[in-house]
Amino acid sequence: MKKVLFVASEGLPFIKSGGLADVIGSLPQTINSERYSCSVVLPLYKKIKENYELNKIGEYNVQSGLINCKAELYYQKYDGVDFYFIGNDQYFYRDGMYGYVDDGERFAFFCKAVLEMLNILPFKVDLLACNDWHTGMIPIMCKKEYCDSYHQNIKTIYTIHNLLFQGNFPEKMLDYFNLDRKYYENGDIRFDDGISFMKAGILFADKVTTVSQSYAKEILTEEYSERMDSVLRTRQNDLSGIVNGIDVQMWNSNTDKALIANYDISKLSGKKKCKKKLQEMLGLRVADDVLLVGMISRLTWQKGVSLILEKLSAIMNQDIQLIILGTGDNYIESQFKQLEYTYPHRAVFYCGYNETLSHQVYAGIDMLLMPSLFEPCGISQLIAMRYGTLPLVREVGGLKDTVIPYNEYEHTGNGFSFRNFSGDDLLNVLKYALNVYYYHPKEWKMLMKNAMNSDVSWKASAEKYIDLFDNLLGH
Ligand code: ADP
Repeated sequence: MKKVLFVASEGLPFIKSGGLADVIGSLPQTINSERYSCSVVLPLYKKIKENYELNKIGEYNVQSGLINCKAELYYQKYDGVDFYFIGNDQYFYRDGMYGYVDDGERFAFFCKAVLEMLNILPFKVDLLACNDWHTGMIPIMCKKEYCDSYHQNIKTIYTIHNLLFQGNFPEKMLDYFNLDRKYYENGDIRFDDGISFMKAGILFADKVTTVSQSYAKEILTEEYSERMDSVLRTRQNDLSGIVNGIDVQMWNSNTDKALIANYDISKLSGKKKCKKKLQEMLGLRVADDVLLVGMISRLTWQKGVSLILEKLSAIMNQDIQLIILGTGDNYIESQFKQLEYTYPHRAVFYCGYNETLSHQVYAGIDMLLMPSLFEPCGISQLIAMRYGTLPLVREVGGLKDTVIPYNEYEHTGNGFSFRNFSGDDLLNVLKYALNVYYYHPKEWKMLMKNAMNSDVSWKASAEKYIDLFDNLLGH
C-alpha cells in the first residue's frame, strides 16, 4: 500500500477559514483504499491546541537557515484518517492563522518541519500532496536539500487552491532556508525581487493541479494568472484541473443536526420549516412566498461583492429578502452593516464566521448568490445545491464547471448564471430567476430537484487523483 501525506495550512474538522479546509477534511478519507493510505499534517494552531485533546508522539529539532528550534508532533485519528500536527508555540500559538508579519518564517518552519517529520513517522511516505503557498517550498527543499534516497524518491504534487495568495517575500527570506543561492539567482524561486513560495511549488513539484478544469485553463491567461501565467505555462504538460467535491455525509439535509427540520428530495416540506426558522432567528419578516437570497462568504473583492454593492438598491427593489453571512474586508463589512437599517426585516448582515449558522442558511434560503470575479472551484455553490438551494453564479472557474444554467426550453439546469462581470448582468439574471420563482413554481421545483441530484461528492474526482497518483508512483 502506498502512503500519501497531505500537507496543508488548514483542514476540517480542526480548523477552517475557507474551502481548502473542506477539501483537506474530506478528500483524503475518500481516497483511502487498499491501494492508498492518506494522512494529513497541519500546523498546531492555538485554536486546535485548546479545543482538541491530541496525543503527543514526538519532538525533534528543525534547522533551516536562521530557524533553529523544536517542533512538537501531535496526532489524532479522525474519520479513519491519521492527522498529524506540528507544534511550535512561538510560531503557531496565536489567535489567528494567517496575516502576521512573520508568515514567511512561520511557513518556512512548517515546510522544513514536515520534511524532518518524515524521519520519525512510523511509515515511509511515497507522495507528498502539498496545498497552496504555505507548502510551496516543500518540493524544492525535498529535492535539493536532502541527498538521502528516502527524500529523493518521494513524489510531490502541488495543488493551487487560490493563485491570488502567493507567499511572495523579500529576498532576505532566503536566509530561512538551507537552499543554494543559485535557485534565486537563476530565477527558479525568484519573483520580482523576492522569493515566491507559490512559484517554487509550481516549478519543483512533479505534478501541479488546481481545483477545476476551467480554472486550470484560466490561470494560463494574463487575466486570471496573477502574473504567474508564464511560470505556469512552463508546466502546462504537468498541470491539470480536478474539480472539488464536498463531504456529502456532513452536508446532508436529511441528517443535518443543525437544522430544525430535515428534508430530502422526496419530502421538501422540511426546507420550508428551515426557511421560517431562519427568518425568525434573523429578524426577517416571516413569509414563505418571498424569495430568500443568501450569501455565505469571505468578504473579499474576489467574491464579486462590488457588483452587489453597485446594484444593492436595485436588488432590494425586487421582491426579495437578503441574508449576508460573512467576514473579511473592513470596507465591505461597513457597507453591509447598513443593510438592516436601510431595509428593516428584509435584509440582514451577520458579520462573522459561524459554522452552525451556515448550515441553517444553506438550508433556509432559496437561492445562493456567488457572482465571483474569479473562483478556483467554490465550495459554497456545491453545498447549496445539496440543500436544494439554487446557486446564482458568474460563469467563471469552478462555478462554470459545476452550475448548469436553467434552460427554459429544454427544462434543464441546476441554477442560474451570467457571463460578464457586470452589475447589470447580475441584476438581469436575478430578475429572470425571480420570474421563475414567482410565476413558474413547477420549474423552480424541478431545478431544486436537479440541484439535489447533482453529484457534488468526491467520488469522480477522487478517481482522478488516484489516476494521478498511479501515474506518479508507477502503479
Ligand atoms: P473560499 O475558499 O474562497 O473562501 P469556497 O466557496 O471554496 O470559498 O469555500 C468557502 C467555505 O467557507 C464554504 O464551506 C463556506 O460555507 C464557508 N464559509 C465562508 N464564510 C463563512 C462564514 N462567515 N461562516 C461560516 N462558513 C463560512
